[in-house]
Amino acid sequence: MDFEETEDHLLIRRTVSELVREFPDQYWRERDAKGEFPREFWNKMAEKGWFGVNIPEKYGGSGLGLVEASIVIHEVARSGGGVPAADLFMRTLLFAGQTILDYGSATVKEKYLPKIAQGQLICSFAHTEPNAGVNTFDVTTSAEEKGGRYHIRGQKIWITLAHMADVIIVVARTTPKDKVEKKSEGITLFLVNGKDQHVRTSKIPGMALNTLGSNMVFFDGVEVPAENIIGEKDKGWICLSSLLNAERIATASMSVGVGELVLERAVKYAKERVVFGRPIGMNQAIQFPLAHCKMQLEAAKLMALKAAWLFDKKKDCAFEANVAAYLGAKAAFEAADRAVQTLGGMGFAKEYDVERHWRDLRLFRTAPVPEEMVLNYVGQHVLGLPKSF
Ligand SMILES: Cc1cc2nc3c(=O)[nH]c(=O)nc-3n(C[C@H](O)[C@H](O)[C@H](O)COP(=O)(O)OP(=O)(O)OC[C@H]3O[C@@H](n4cnc5c(N)ncnc54)[C@H](O)[C@@H]3O)c2cc1C
Repeated sequence: MDFEETEDHLLIRRTVSELVREFPDQYWRERDAKGEFPREFWNKMAEKGWFGVNIPEKYGGSGLGLVEASIVIHEVARSGGGVPAADLFMRTLLFAGQTILDYGSATVKEKYLPKIAQGQLICSFAHTEPNAGVNTFDVTTSAEEKGGRYHIRGQKIWITLAHMADVIIVVARTTPKDKVEKKSEGITLFLVNGKDQHVRTSKIPGMALNTLGSNMVFFDGVEVPAENIIGEKDKGWICLSSLLNAERIATASMSVGVGELVLERAVKYAKERVVFGRPIGMNQAIQFPLAHCKMQLEAAKLMALKAAWLFDKKKDCAFEANVAAYLGAKAAFEAADRAVQTLGGMGFAKEYDVERHWRDLRLFRTAPVPEEMVLNYVGQHVLGLPKSF
């Protein structure tokens, strides 16, 4: 067992961190307030090749794995970009890059991977539906085959960046639920051109991820060639599970990164702020919760790295990915909450930024997987207890 990061890992951390620090808090604060895409940040990271970390060299990437992608995501989050900046990497590296790499047709790989690696494509993932909720098997967006092409119809909700997406990975039913033996059958993933005139979006004003924006998406019979099927027709659950595991690992890395960022801010304030003639950090009521947050973040970080390592080894990582997402989200939100508490009134001031991170981090207790569903998973599939619903 070796817990030491390699020279390459440390180099990735240093290089990414230096790049992200070129974009100060003020930059992210303004993007959040205006609900504006961080174009300058995107261009800089694309120019330096960071959207190709896990894409093989023959497609123009660096040929590394999810461990390295997680390090990039963690470092982007921790070095000031916070959730929206790191989320851009999750979407590009994993939803599109990794999914196409592992399950895309040869044509799709040739066509899209080089552009993804170069940061030429904005990617989105359309899974959630208004009437299915967390039950994927109830999705009703349908893909009907006509003359070798698929026509996709349906509605999705909360789809981040769909309004700007060049590429959307869409979860659809190719066989209705009442015509399959197992509920997980009949689902297929498609790569859809986000700019097609039969894809309409409508922004949902919300609490988190304002910089990127989330949307209702309507697929009005958008046509997709069969080669754009990701994985196999009707067997999409296999690649969807893999994508969801990667997403959970990425959100854990992001959570921990932003958690460390807000904890650092809280510790600095606790050392400097003097009340009753002494730094507030001398009070155990301030110090102990911060120490607790540090320990929880460290535990979540190790679980995220273990899950990424298992993923790269193509071993089952569902338990670890779920646990990492759960622990990371809880630890990071608690760190943000304690940061707001430690900063007192200033915790609510935009200029101190912790309120922004608090809003963004709250998301991960609900999405991509709500805490209840992780507990359901562990109770039923890991502990073997009866299904509770
Ligand atoms: C800002 C934002 C960005 C998002 N981006 C995307 C995106 O890019 N792509 C995408 O596909 N989706 C996205 N989502 C959707 C997100 O993944 C879902 O909102 C999340 O998975 C919860 O689903 P739901 O909202 O349908 O909750 P529901 O299914 O309505 O559940 C509501 C609550 O009930 C609980 N619950 C339901 N059933 C059970 C049960 N059996 N036992 C215990 N508790 C239960 C849930 O845990 C949850 O707390 C985003 C959401 C937000 C808010």
